[in-house]
Amino acid sequence: MSQNPLLWDKKYTCPICGTVSPSKKVFIDKIRVKDYDEDLKPNYEGINPMLYSVITCPHCYYSALEPEFEQKVSPIYMDEIKKVQSELKVPQNIVFSAERDHITAILTYALATLFYKAKKQPCKVAEMYLRMGWLYREISNTENELKALAHALVSFEDCFTNSYVDAEKEPMILFYLGELSFRLGKFEDTKKWFSMLVNNYRNSTSFYAKAGKDRWQSIKDQLK
Ligand SMILES: [Zn+2]
Repeated sequence: MSQNPLLWDKKYTCPICGTVSPSKKVFIDKIRVKDYDEDLKPNYEGINPMLYSVITCPHCYYSALEPEFEQKVSPIYMDEIKKVQSELKVPQNIVFSAERDHITAILTYALATLFYKAKKQPCKVAEMYLRMGWLYREISNTENELKALAHALVSFEDCFTNSYVDAEKEPMILFYLGELSFRLGKFEDTKKWFSMLVNNYRNSTSFYAKAGKDRWQSIKDQLK
């Protein structure tokens, strides 16, 4: 197979087992966002960089988002990580370092959720489920999209309630708490979260605070 000119190989060292392996990256100047869905899912022209955002070790299957994959993992979480790894059943024929189709990419996100759970990072778990939902949307698998979004909502609630959320991230989390509640038909919660976003971040310059204001207006019109 000839090399896809939009992709290049970067080598990563697994912080758990030490395996060095390549993974594809999209050349940054080849990434083009065409538009966004109402939940701010980006739609790309040509190649979708979301397919390559998670790095998966081909040896032990440890998985994390690209910028943090090589970061050392605290020994506190090691027992939990080993337990996850001992229970994994990953199909042998999947090559994570090659060009990825949606199904392979979804598997990398599913693996990443397990490891972020093991590392007690519910906000990251939520983001992984959200992106899984988006990838299912791109292949028109609505049933699995909604399942992933429902998991994302539970994890965003866990993130918001039980973990430290820095002020910069809070508008994004409130936006998705509102948006996912709406998509899953929980209209009381939709109101609660969007009101919190709109009221607490009235004068904020945050992208999500601004987008949330418009989105909440349009949802209110739909709910009338
Ligand atoms: Zn590994």
